[in-house]
Amino acid sequence: MTTRIFVAGHKGMVGSAIVRQLQALHNCEVIVRDRAELDLLNQAQVAAFFAEQNIDQVYLAAAKVGGIVANNTYPAEFIYQNLTIQNNIIHSAYHAGITQLLFLGSSCIYPKLAEQPMQESALLTGTLEPTNEPYAIAKIAGIKMCESYNRQYGVDYRSVMPTNLYGENDNFHPENSHVIPALMRRFHEAKLANTPEVVVWGTGTPMREFLYVDDMAAASIYVMNVDQSIYQNNTEPMLSHLNVGTGVDCTIREMALTMAAVVGYQGNVAFDATKPDGAPRKLMDVSKLKSLGWTYNIDLKEGLEATYQWFLQHQDDFR
Ligand code: GDP
Repeated sequence: MTTRIFVAGHKGMVGSAIVRQLQALHNCEVIVRDRAELDLLNQAQVAAFFAEQNIDQVYLAAAKVGGIVANNTYPAEFIYQNLTIQNNIIHSAYHAGITQLLFLGSSCIYPKLAEQPMQESALLTGTLEPTNEPYAIAKIAGIKMCESYNRQYGVDYRSVMPTNLYGENDNFHPENSHVIPALMRRFHEAKLANTPEVVVWGTGTPMREFLYVDDMAAASIYVMNVDQSIYQNNTEPMLSHLNVGTGVDCTIREMALTMAAVVGYQGNVAFDATKPDGAPRKLMDVSKLKSLGWTYNIDLKEGLEATYQWFLQHQDDFR
C-alpha cells in the first residue's frame, strides 16, 4: 500500500532534503503545496486540505526562520507565524485522523547556559537566549502540543531538534547567514579574486557541532518510522523530543581551515577577535537517538564538499 506523505515546508533546506529522500523510496507518494495553493497561516484552508487529502504521515518542516538580525527585528512575526503554522497543521492533522507526524524544532529550545553536551532533559530548566526567545518559545510550544495530543488523543506525534545544519538550499547571504554558508561564499570569492587573506569572525576557538542536511533528512525519516515499541522503549514515561546531531564538535578555526581546503583557497586565514564569538560551545547529546539505532553518515569534510558543489551550480541564483 502506498503511504501518502505531506511535507510542509518543502522549499526550505530541511523540507527539500526530506522530499528528495522520500521520492527515492518506492512505496510512498509525496504531497507538497506552494504558498499560493495552501496558506499554512490560514486555519480554514489547512483544515480543508487535511480533510480532503487522505494523508498518512506529516513532516512539519515549515517555519519562519532567520539569523540573529532577523529574529531581533521581527520578533512578532517569528512568534506569530511559527505558532500559527504548527497549531494549524497539528490540530488539523489530528482532526483528519492522522496518527503520524514529525515536528522539526531547533537546538535553541534549550537554556542559554545549558550544560554541554545538551541533553533532552535540559528543556525548560533555565532562561533562553533572549535574541531568539520568541522563536524558541514557539518551538517549545510545538513540542508540548505534540506531547499533549499524544497524551489526550493517543496519536503518535514525534519531535526532533537538530543541531546546526548546513547544505544545499542554505541561505548564503554574506552577512545574515550562519557561519558555514558565510565562509563558503567568502572563501570562494577570495579564491576568485586572489585575495591574500580571508577574515573569520571571532577568535576561532568557539566549538560547534554541524550536521549535513541530508543526514538530518535521513534521521527525520528514521525517527518517523521507527517502531513505537523501540521508540518508547528506552525512555521514562514518554519521549517528548529527540536531539539530532553528530555528537562531534570542532572549533571554528578547524572548520574554517577545512573550508579553505574544500574551496581550494590557498591564502591566509585570519581571525578578527573584535567580532563576537557567541556561545563558547554548542553540542547536542545524541545518545538517545543512537540508542534507537541511528547515527550520522556524512562527516564535515564530505558535507562541505557536497555543499560546495551545490554552491557552484547555484551561485547565480542567490546573488
Ligand atoms: P551560532 O552557532 O548561533 O553562534 O551561529 P553562527 O553560525 O552565526 O556563528 C558560529 C560561530 O562562527 C561564532 O563563533 C561566529 O563568531 C563564528 N563566525 C566566524 N565567521 C563568521 C561569519 O562570517 N558569519 C557567521 N554567522 N559567524 C561566523
